Amino acid sequence: MPPSSFPTRQLYYDGKLWPASSGKTFESIDPSNATPLAEIQVAAHADIDAAIAAADRAFSSWSQTPPIARARILQKAVALLRERNDEIARVETLDSGKAFTETSTVDVVTGADTLEYYANLVGGGGLNGETTQLREDAWVYTKKAPLGVCAAIGAWNYPIQIALWKSAPCLAAGNTLVYKPSEFTPLHAQTLAEIYREAGLPAGVFNVVYGAGDVGAYLTAHPTIAKVSFTGQVTTGMKVAGSAAGNMKYVTMELGGKSPLIILPDAELDNAVDGAMMANFYSTGQVCTNGTRVFVPASMKAAFEQRLLEKMQYIRPGPLFDDATNFGPLSSAIHAEKVASYIRHGIETDKATLLFGGLGKPSVPKELEAGFWVRPTVFTNCTDDMKIVKEEIFGPVMSILSYETVEEAVERANTTELGLAAGVFTKNLNLAHRIIDQLQAGITWINTWGESPADMAVGGWKNSGVGVENGRRGIEAWVKNKSTLVDTNGAIATVFAKL
Ligand code: NAD
Repeated sequence: MPPSSFPTRQLYYDGKLWPASSGKTFESIDPSNATPLAEIQVAAHADIDAAIAAADRAFSSWSQTPPIARARILQKAVALLRERNDEIARVETLDSGKAFTETSTVDVVTGADTLEYYANLVGGGGLNGETTQLREDAWVYTKKAPLGVCAAIGAWNYPIQIALWKSAPCLAAGNTLVYKPSEFTPLHAQTLAEIYREAGLPAGVFNVVYGAGDVGAYLTAHPTIAKVSFTGQVTTGMKVAGSAAGNMKYVTMELGGKSPLIILPDAELDNAVDGAMMANFYSTGQVCTNGTRVFVPASMKAAFEQRLLEKMQYIRPGPLFDDATNFGPLSSAIHAEKVASYIRHGIETDKATLLFGGLGKPSVPKELEAGFWVRPTVFTNCTDDMKIVKEEIFGPVMSILSYETVEEAVERANTTELGLAAGVFTKNLNLAHRIIDQLQAGITWINTWGESPADMAVGGWKNSGVGVENGRRGIEAWVKNKSTLVDTNGAIATVFAKL
């Protein structure tokens, strides 16, 4: 394979590509075989200033474009995304290492769905305010105003989906955007910019800069930026929120988790095992909402583990464009090392029981052996104080924790500083609702795991985030409120009248 299969990526702002002035580049790597895919130009401060200035110039006209006219442009982009689904999914697979069976059915699809959702919402009056009659001759009316130039910073696990989950409500609400994808998965950004342009989005409304944390830090601290929407690790999110606080910027923080999945004694065994596997091994475990702490009743543990071991055989690493492959490599060498170090810690220091997997690579064809593969791994007999149970690993590592009573399971499930997702498997729906009500997490599931449709607002509690994405509530993160009290009485109720 040639050193790079894609043309060098330049920055995109003011409706066109621009060479970065830094003179620096980085490489995007195919995680399945460790070969370079493309050179990406790194934005210098002057380039980021230029992208922000383009977004600033575009704001007054875009924000005043009627919502229905904005919606029509975004709908065209939805159609283009769907038309080009497999082509975009192919790039996502090469860039992120996710199997094509996933990227072609989930990544582009769920991104386009969200764009369609927000185009429909604002086109149908979703940005209208409220009117309240205070008394016969006085009213309050409210207006939802766009915020201005916004910044979006993405993680590497769902590249185009994250770009769309942020840009869809942002642009629909009348804001303009400067987007920085993760330096590990940057390739989708130019395609999305081209699609928006082809759909008729005016120059400067959607802009792209590339680089690592320093580029993100400059962007988020910039005084012209009105809002930062961030997806990434808790520790990075804390830095970004801290920097945004300097200018009272609005923030949305979509951060990490260590989510509990509670199986009740009456749960259907196969469903519980399938749910736990989807919650740990889908996307090679690189899903923020993964249910990595699997609470199993002590009475059910042996049966659960036996069925799980049978089904672990259905995890199929392999060539990413093979229809049978349902498990890819991790997204980068550095991340694969991090996940392996957690597996090592689980074995050597935490001394959890290794039920399946462990260190080393799964068996893959010879041409993929240099890729960033790790083995799907299950630890059992875990305890709450183990590092592998407490910290987000963000890889295919399940921890099984047994419990005696439901009250105990709920209390232990909540003993964490994170609160992204949680779920319960049971036939007793009354009990399921009671348990869900007690779980401290923003995204919860009953008898299922992981589905996150456009109309479901999702966001973390505790250190897992601030605000939500998607759903009706998601648009509120991209507007500010103005309340106006109008009095038609004609006389001012003054206290400064003559006695
Ligand atoms: P990361 O925090 O390392 O990087 C995320 C982004 O932040 C990258 O684009 C990076 O370049 C940028 N960045 C790094 N330092 C920065 C700084 N100081 N200022 C501004 N930007 C900076 O996260 P990651 O490893 O790419 O992603 C994995 C994490 O993302 C996991 O913790 C996962 O749970 C989380 N995640 C959360 C959600 C959610 O919706 N809650 C979704 C996907 C991923």
